[in-house]
Amino acid sequence: MSVLSAPYMHDEAAAFAHVEAMLWADGPVCPHCGVVDRAYRLEGVRTKPSKKNPEGKERHGLWKCRECRKQFTVRKGTIFEESHLPLHLWLQAIHLMVSSKKGISSNQLHRVLGVTLKTAWFLSHRIREAMRSGDLSPMV
Ligand SMILES: [Zn+2]
Repeated sequence: MSVLSAPYMHDEAAAFAHVEAMLWADGPVCPHCGVVDRAYRLEGVRTKPSKKNPEGKERHGLWKCRECRKQFTVRKGTIFEESHLPLHLWLQAIHLMVSSKKGISSNQLHRVLGVTLKTAWFLSHRIREAMRSGDLSPMV
């Protein structure tokens, strides 16, 4: 099976589970107070209704800390925090960038992922930076 057909490359819930498993080997880490494995999952939370999504969209990977009572997702404090792009598209972009020897241009990302050129530029910039600083090491 190709890595590109893995569920976490296409399914948002699977993408969250994948990143959580990589970053939280000892259980969820609260980014607000730093406590480990004291949070519980909030299921069935939806975003506010909008024209496009009259019933709201499901909020994936939402946790609530038992200590500080604050909510968070695994995106908090990572490069994934800085955009609203679905996590599974981030994972596709990272895969494309780390698996191609010569690197991949923003233009290629734009075409392959079907995101805007601006988003593609942002992604490649952030991923390249994270690769350089080693922040992506748990992912690759
Ligand atoms: Zn906390």
